Amino acid sequence: ADGTRRPLIAGNWKMHGLKVPAARTLGEIIEGYDPALRAGVDLLVCPPAPLLHMFSVVAVGSRVAIGAQDCHAEPLGAFTGEVSAEMIADAGATMVIVGHSERRAYCGESDGVVRGKALAARRARLTPIICVGETRQERDAGQALEVVGTQLFASVPDGPCDFVVAYEPVWAIGTGLTPTAQDVADMHAFMRDGLCKRFGAAADGVRLLYGGSVKPANAGELLAIADVDGALVGGASLVAADFLAIAGAA
Ligand code: PGA
Repeated sequence: ADGTRRPLIAGNWKMHGLKVPAARTLGEIIEGYDPALRAGVDLLVCPPAPLLHMFSVVAVGSRVAIGAQDCHAEPLGAFTGEVSAEMIADAGATMVIVGHSERRAYCGESDGVVRGKALAARRARLTPIICVGETRQERDAGQALEVVGTQLFASVPDGPCDFVVAYEPVWAIGTGLTPTAQDVADMHAFMRDGLCKRFGAAADGVRLLYGGSVKPANAGELLAIADVDGALVGGASLVAADFLAIAGAA
């Protein structure tokens, strides 16, 4: 964080959360988001889709924002099982994660698909969090910057800088492994530079999150990096005290 962009700590709950225990955790997060923390950090909770409406109602007035984990590119239609950005906005959410590596890997989402979802988010007035990241093999082959640069360029839509980017190395997700602070700093500076070349000065305002095994113990070091403007947190976001401790480190 460099002080010019307001940090965003986003919790990606993935496929975890039945309504009773989930509501308890959300309540603990809202309660722990005290004025001192609120003054400096934005909090976002992204539960599974069936909880979006309830969470949005519970979070009204708390300034904890609610987001979805994915959306379909089309606003409506014969797409069994899918949820559109408009439906997510209608449920009360304000942000949506697109292109998470699990969706890229398990659902075959290409950069073009991810870009379409980011555009759908814009159409529905949701802020997309566009995820990119290299695999272990790509990192070991020295291709991390090239791979992430290509993903970023193709996944981010033209137009206004109304999106958030999350750098999540695939090999760091859920593994307890993280890149070195220097590698994160290099990647984030590289992404900022690429966005500024394409979008001009407006890209200075884009928040670049780091994700992948962010925990209370490593959050301080990661969030101190100049171009790291927050975190996308998986496992540790399921425990209110850990999530709040990470936010406290921002
Ligand atoms: P993790 O997941 O924090 O459990 O590594 C991060 C993510 O997938 O967004």
